[in-house]
Amino acid sequence: MKKIKNMSENNIKSIAVLTSGGDAPGMNAALRAVVRTANHFNINCYGIREGYNGLIAGDVTKMGPRSVKNIINQGGTILKSARSKEFMTPEGRRKAFEQCQKLGIDALVCIGGDGSFTGAKVFNEEYGIRVIGVPGTIDNDIFGTDNTIGYDTALNTAMDAIDKIRDTATSHNRVFFVEVMGRDAGFIALNSGIATGALDILIPERKDSMEDLFSTFRMAEKVGKSSSIVVVAEGEELGSIYDLAKATKEEFPTYDIRVTILGHIQRGGSPSCADRVLASNLGYGAVVGLLEGKNKVMVGMQSNKITYTPIEEAIKKHNEIDKNLIQISEILAM
Ligand code: ATP
Repeated sequence: MKKIKNMSENNIKSIAVLTSGGDAPGMNAALRAVVRTANHFNINCYGIREGYNGLIAGDVTKMGPRSVKNIINQGGTILKSARSKEFMTPEGRRKAFEQCQKLGIDALVCIGGDGSFTGAKVFNEEYGIRVIGVPGTIDNDIFGTDNTIGYDTALNTAMDAIDKIRDTATSHNRVFFVEVMGRDAGFIALNSGIATGALDILIPERKDSMEDLFSTFRMAEKVGKSSSIVVVAEGEELGSIYDLAKATKEEFPTYDIRVTILGHIQRGGSPSCADRVLASNLGYGAVVGLLEGKNKVMVGMQSNKITYTPIEEAIKKHNEIDKNLIQISEILAM
C-alpha cells in the first residue's frame, strides 16, 4: 500500500474524536476511519466517551486500529453520544480544555450535527484547539455536504416500514398517516414518500393547508385510489399527526384512518452501504484536513469529492429541499 506522507508541519501529534448530539447509523464507521487514518499518519488518537461530557470529565481512551475492529457494520456509536449542558458553560469548557492540555490534544474531530459544531466553534475561539466537524445526523439538513452520515440508512428504514404499512393499507382500504423523523427538515419525509408512492407528503419547508390535503383525497377518490398513505415530517407546521387525522375523519367520515409514528427505529440499525462509504470518506477527510492545516471547518462530500466548508456556514446555512422533487411527488401520486 502506498503510504501518504504525514504533512505534520502543522504540528498535529495527538487528536481526539467524539460523537455528540443525536446518534446516527454510520457514526461508528466514521470513528473507525478517523482512528485508522490517524494511525496511518502516526498520530495519537483518543476516543472521548459521551460527547462533550466525556471531554469535561476526562472519560477518554487511547484508540488504535484494533479498537475499532468489527464496528463498521454497527449502528449507534461505541463512544456513546450525549447532549452536554455543562459544555454550554464557560466553566465546563475550561475543564474540557484542561483535559486537552493534560493529554496533549492538538485537535478535536467532532462527529455530530450543527449544535455539536457550534460547541466546537466556541471551544476553538476560546482555547485555540483546532476543530473539524463531521456531519453525522439522520436529518440531512447540514449545509456543505450532499448527504449527512445516517441519512441514507434512516431513509431506507422509513421506506421499509412504510412499504409494510402499505401492504396492510391496501388490504383494508385504509388511509394511513405516517410520521417520520425531521423536526426542522423534510428530507426523510419527501424522499421516503416518493419512494413508497405516498398520496401526499407534508414537510415543514412547504406551507400546507387542510384544504389542499382534502382536495388531494378527493382527487384520489376520483382516480379510483382505494387506499392512501400520507407521509408527515415530525416538524410539519400544519398540526400534529393526530390533529391531521382527526380533521380528515371529520371531513371524510367513511374513511378508516390510522396513525403510525415510526419514531426511533429510524435512528437504529446497521448502516447502509452508502452511509459506510460516506463515513469512511469523511473520517479520512477529517484527519487529512487537519494535517493540511484546516481548522474550524466541516468536512463534507459534494459531487463525490471531499470538501471543507467553514464551520460557521455549516451551522448557519441549511441544505435546501429540491422544489422540483415536491412537484414530481405530486404528479406521480395520482
Ligand atoms: P442533532 O442534529 O442530532 O440534534 P446536534 O449536534 O445538533 O445533533 P445538539 O443537542 O444541538 O445536537 O448539540 C450537541 C451538543 O453540542 C450540546 O449538548 C452541547 O454540549 C454542544 N453545544 C451546542 N450548542 C453549543 C453552544 N452554543 N456552546 C457550547 N456547546 C454547545
